[in-house]
Amino acid sequence: MTRALLSLGSNLGDRGEHLRLGVAIVAGEEPHRISRVYRTAPVGGVEQDDFWNLALALETEASPVALLERARAAESAARRVRTVRWGPRTLDVDILWIDGYASDDPELTVPHPRMWERAFVVVPLAEIAPDVATPERVAAAGGEVSALGTLSEVL
Ligand code: ATP
Ligand code: CA
Ligand code: CA
Repeated sequence: MTRALLSLGSNLGDRGEHLRLGVAIVAGEEPHRISRVYRTAPVGGVEQDDFWNLALALETEASPVALLERARAAESAARRVRTVRWGPRTLDVDILWIDGYASDDPELTVPHPRMWERAFVVVPLAEIAPDVATPERVAAAGGEVSALGTLSEVL
């Protein structure tokens, strides 16, 4: 079993439901923990609704590529339509970290190259993986986030 850490975000439609669906598809029957849901102002300068984000820690038998396939399957299940990059989306699933694994393949770059600068990634992650999202990394990440509650509370 390998620990994988992922970030899920939604800012279109029923955000809580998209996150719930994403966790269910990515985690399946494997042991996992999720952070609370955080609300974030969108980045990238595109006019859009607030993001809801959570972090997922998964103990998995899946390979990194199989995890990316699960992430894409979850996005498809939420009927994500790719329009503008960093634009609104029903569901975005990013692989942040896999214990003992690093890749610079553009299709799957791990650790995720932009994670450390994003409070909406690092703050939720600190709840479930404080060894990776250390207090120093939380302090260094930019942006405002506020906890909305647990996923079941916001559904
Ligand atoms: P960002 O990566 O800055 O958060 P984004 O999530 O909006 O941007 P997407 O359009 O969702 O970007 O993904 C673009 C491509 O990134 C995907 O086709 C995917 O193959 C690739 N990718 C590279 N590394 C990863 C990773 N660690 N997790 C998920 N996708 C990745
Ligand atoms: Ca992303
Ligand atoms: Ca993505």
